[in-house]
Amino acid sequence: MFELHVLGTSSARFAHGRSVSGSVLNTPGGLALIDCGEGMQKRMMDHNRALKSSGLENRTRISRIRAIFLTHGHLDHTWGLLPLLQTLDLDGRRNPMVIVGPSTREAIDWAIQHPGEAPPESSGISPTDLAILFSQWQAIGTKDEESSYTIDWVLIPINDDQPFKSPLQPLEGVTVTIVPTHHGVPSCGYHFETSRKQGRFDRERAAQLGLSDAQVGQLAQGQDLMVNGESLTAASFRGESRPGCSLMVSGDTAHGPIGFDSTNLPSSPQLLLHEATFLADQQEKATQYHHSTAADAARHATSCKASALALTHYSSRIERLALSVSEAREHFSGGVAATLDGDWFGIDANGDVSHHVRVENGWNKKNL
Ligand SMILES: [Zn+2]
Repeated sequence: MFELHVLGTSSARFAHGRSVSGSVLNTPGGLALIDCGEGMQKRMMDHNRALKSSGLENRTRISRIRAIFLTHGHLDHTWGLLPLLQTLDLDGRRNPMVIVGPSTREAIDWAIQHPGEAPPESSGISPTDLAILFSQWQAIGTKDEESSYTIDWVLIPINDDQPFKSPLQPLEGVTVTIVPTHHGVPSCGYHFETSRKQGRFDRERAAQLGLSDAQVGQLAQGQDLMVNGESLTAASFRGESRPGCSLMVSGDTAHGPIGFDSTNLPSSPQLLLHEATFLADQQEKATQYHHSTAADAARHATSCKASALALTHYSSRIERLALSVSEAREHFSGGVAATLDGDWFGIDANGDVSHHVRVENGWNKKNL
């Protein structure tokens, strides 16, 4: 139902074979990117080739991207965007593209009045607010009228901490919720959820009534029946509807936004992919730079009642990730995974989460 391919797990810069942020999310409503750091299009192509040659059916083709969700404007999360958009144009893409990102009302208004310009310091608007960057990017290279496809640049003003349904829902059958975060510039995480599934069909009751296969089929498809003078309503053969699949990606954040509390979310995520830039010995630095430690990520996983936690976005100081995982385990009782570049996670229809660990000739599957 969901596949999350994590193609960059380093914060700020390339380190230890790890690239900067960028993930591919495959949903029943199409493919989306979450962040798009430097070199993202090449990473997707290499990953796609590896998937194909290992015999898997999953794909991460850039032509299939429906929407790009940016968590904030810092360059390690966005610098691969323009080259990717240009390649799609060279490829003759026809389908429109949607790009969504957080901003503020002030920055949006400023960018409308000063297209393509950087705001002065006195304005109090961050030059890396996505409203400013979108306006500059449009001025540099993507407003070419000859472009083979249209781009819908969607800025979401963030007013407070409260999560809210995205005003634009580009993935059919998937509800996207914006989860405001604390990162010094307008920033957010994203919660993705598929529609609720219909309840289980009560085959035993149908069998007890001695119904024919055709009658059972009609009831299962939702048609009411009249059998021997008794009316059978299809709904009475269905159990309670079941939650869909859900997944949350934190973006960059300090500990504490209320969106990481399950009571403020549409559903508890089966998987939380959360930044874990630092270890506990750098808690002060984490707070100062609006980032999380592995323990902070785990506290958020506990408060949003996630089933499993995947860590990412490690500082270049962290070479081995075993310590990140053990620090997280002290604060979260569900499954914890240290994500590496090229790993992917699957969430199946039952909500079970699997971690596919990149190895030389493919992936090793582990249940989380
Ligand atoms: Zn970052």
